[in-house]
Amino acid sequence: MRQQPGSTRDSGGVDGNPSAAETPVSGVASATLSLNTGRAIPQIGLGVWQTPRGEVTQAAVVAALRLGYRHVDTARIYGNERDVGIGVQKSGVPREEIFVTTKLWNDDQGYDSTLRAFDASLDRLGLEHVDLYLLHWPVAGRRLDSWRALERIHADGRARAIGVSNFMSKHLDELLARAQVIPAVNQIEVSPFLQQRDARAFCARHGIIVEAYSPLTHGQRLGHPVVTKVAKRVGRSPAQVLLRWGIQQGMVVLPKSTRETRIRENAALFDFTLDADAMAMLDGCEEGLATGWDPRSQA
Ligand code: NDP
Repeated sequence: MRQQPGSTRDSGGVDGNPSAAETPVSGVASATLSLNTGRAIPQIGLGVWQTPRGEVTQAAVVAALRLGYRHVDTARIYGNERDVGIGVQKSGVPREEIFVTTKLWNDDQGYDSTLRAFDASLDRLGLEHVDLYLLHWPVAGRRLDSWRALERIHADGRARAIGVSNFMSKHLDELLARAQVIPAVNQIEVSPFLQQRDARAFCARHGIIVEAYSPLTHGQRLGHPVVTKVAKRVGRSPAQVLLRWGIQQGMVVLPKSTRETRIRENAALFDFTLDADAMAMLDGCEEGLATGWDPRSQA
């Protein structure tokens, strides 16, 4: 059973005697939001897209978990599910304290193929269940059959929650008209430069948690004058300003880094706040920036 916020065993190294570098970051382990399943989801998750498989992924996951992260976001297409599973095991943090997400790749969409793909993901992760399984993309013609398969996986208890990714309001509308289970999460790209107001409002109305992917704009706006101005004002880094904005907007944020110093920096978000003026400056940065793929034109 998941421990209560604040009571996690975030005591650091496997021998219980962490080095200074591994001292957990204050607040990260206990910051959670409530899913529509009644379970908690940690508000900061380590993203591992483009984190190379093997030792690099394992080390990033171990570092994050020892620093207090309790959430890792992978996908079958990232090619590193196996290493995420090894990292979880190596970290010494009990499995039940860790929230693991993976995703169904587009080629695997369809009812039977989804069931097979889920089994394969679970096998690579070396886990008995995942905490969240997502449709990675709203594949036209197949997403509804895939969702039925996710509902079955959820009913079997092998995915504690199910959700979607890259779903815009039109995709969600269609899904909710047929779904037995309302998605717990919609994982979409969100930053001050792509605020997704329509999709987020839809999710808020239906109790769907929004997870912000590429919350650091994939690195593309860390030097933006508004971001650096706010960063200077609060005495934090541009990355921390973007992530704190996402936290204050009530979202889960999924920063990716392979470097321990940045993994730490990206979690140190709970000893400062952005005031209304700073939030308004960031809210004024909307420019429709999609750094990767863009589901707004997906039928
Ligand atoms: P991010 O917005 O997290 O940016 C990552 C980039 O920023 C990397 O180049 C990283 O480099 C750098 N970086 C990280 N921390 C800092 C820092 N503190 N200061 C300066 N630079 C920093 O991009 P992603 O696109 O990777 O998105 C994050 C996660 O979201 C993914 O890993 C994945 O889990 C998820 N995602 C989901 C998608 C979906 O379709 N569902 C699509 C895209 C992402 P370095 O590693 O060298 O530190």
